[in-house]
Amino acid sequence: MNKILTFSLILLCLGCSKKPQFDDTTFDTFKSRFILAYWKQNPIAATSAGYHHYDSLLPAYTETYRNEGRQFCKTYLDSLNLFKPGNLQASNRLDWVLLQNALTSQLFYVDTFKAWQWDPSGYNIASSLAEVLQAKNITNSEKLSFIEKRLAAIPAYYKAAMENIVDPTAEHIKLAIEQNEGTVNYILGGFCAEMDKLMPGMKACSENKYFIAMADEAIRKYIEFLKAIPQKPNYKARDFRIGKTLYERKFELDIQSKGSAVEIYQKALIRKRALHRQMAGLTSQLWTKYFKEPQPKDTLAAIQQLIQKIADKHAHRDSFMESIEAQIPQLTKFVSEKNLLYLDPKKPLKVRRTPAYMDGVAGASISAPGPYDSDAETFYNVSTLEKMSAEQAESYLREYNFYVLQILNIHEAIPGHYAQLVYANQSPSLVKTLFGNGAMIEGWAVYSERMMLENGYGNNEPEMELMYCKWHLRSVCNTILDYSVHVLGWDQNQAMDLLVNQAFQQDAEARGKWRRVSLTQVQLCSYFSGYTEIYELRERLKQKGNFDLKTFHEKLLSYGSSPVKEIAQMMK
Ligand code: ZN
Ligand code: ZN
Repeated sequence: MNKILTFSLILLCLGCSKKPQFDDTTFDTFKSRFILAYWKQNPIAATSAGYHHYDSLLPAYTETYRNEGRQFCKTYLDSLNLFKPGNLQASNRLDWVLLQNALTSQLFYVDTFKAWQWDPSGYNIASSLAEVLQAKNITNSEKLSFIEKRLAAIPAYYKAAMENIVDPTAEHIKLAIEQNEGTVNYILGGFCAEMDKLMPGMKACSENKYFIAMADEAIRKYIEFLKAIPQKPNYKARDFRIGKTLYERKFELDIQSKGSAVEIYQKALIRKRALHRQMAGLTSQLWTKYFKEPQPKDTLAAIQQLIQKIADKHAHRDSFMESIEAQIPQLTKFVSEKNLLYLDPKKPLKVRRTPAYMDGVAGASISAPGPYDSDAETFYNVSTLEKMSAEQAESYLREYNFYVLQILNIHEAIPGHYAQLVYANQSPSLVKTLFGNGAMIEGWAVYSERMMLENGYGNNEPEMELMYCKWHLRSVCNTILDYSVHVLGWDQNQAMDLLVNQAFQQDAEARGKWRRVSLTQVQLCSYFSGYTEIYELRERLKQKGNFDLKTFHEKLLSYGSSPVKEIAQMMK
């Protein structure tokens, strides 16, 4: 037993008289202490979560800092292993699993995955300043002193970045340059003006002139450094594809599925074939309703043509938000009439225009308050199409046509993300909020789309079924794409063929997806893998008899954002 472990054992035991009891009470104490220590070790993440105690810190990612991080993980893993998860109550048992996974992941990322060596976009200080500035629960003078200290630490931060980068991918160099150029503009422009506006009379901008100039110079130097890399003799960019070994491990840690990456990939291939068969049937059924000419021999081409035709039915650009708002009570009514899930009438969903500061891409999203701001409201943000040209708006409205818009609302709002969030908040757990499982969150939303249609939402109209299949293909093909690119080495042409010809996506959407797959790994799998696990769990439980859908949903959601495989254990 090492010194630090002994020390943490003593800490654990402060509350008890004799020898430590590794029960739920001790575990609660352990969790609170862990989270405070975690914030101290990760002050930028703390700021993002709304915990502002360490806002003055901006650690440079040096080898010393990495070593502290390694030691931190090992110490807390040792302490964690003193608890037997089987002796803890359900909610704590799941927290134990999430913490174990989070600490193991952190070690994997620093020692094996090593994106800090090849992804220069990991270094950017914009949000660490913006989030202090926008904090609600600290005073202006605290804010100013935190910002000064973070500004002063920026040169050392970028110096460490330049020392770390050894073998970057071309794609991440490009992204890092774009984003850090944005940061330069932000620091000299918006940030300064915002400081003076939010902290009137404090001369924040002029008082910090020197630090701002130093920060500006440090970021510019970093951009120059990145631009120079491809100019070096014998330069050969690292492939952005991470390959099978790293992919399988990252999948295990990020998704926490009961199956491996290759198993989920194979299930996605099977699901794609089933969806194509279903779409072919629906197309033959609907063809003469929409076209006089005979159906083309090429089935995929016929499906594509019909989808284009059905997309003519869509909301008007001036009443897009109202169309969404009008659907929420209808969805709520359907869920309760069909007895699918209890929805708390005291927590109705509020639809609002996406606030300007987060209005980057058009769309709809749920915005939930952070874990330290739990009194704040949850909103359904909808972007207006005001800034779009006529052509852009038309393309957007066709994409989110009459049918797809309803499925989007199911996914984002009811009974999708919003309902899941309300259930998760019933037994609040900081661990689940901070280290929750993304595949459960996305999986539930994707599952709820299919579940609503199975229960007759949309009156089993074949048009609705067809558009659902197209929408669902997106999740399925996200998995196929991610695995095929990173493990099987697909190029952009193969990717575009999958997305455009087999998943019926518009060119712009498909290009965006290619960019995303070249910059991220595994995350694209979370939708389909979470969905598959929830669906399979339901079908297994159904076979045991005595099955009630509403009870199943409520039980499943009561465990919060935990990995589905762990929830399945609990529901046995
Ligand atoms: Zn139109
Ligand atoms: Zn989602």
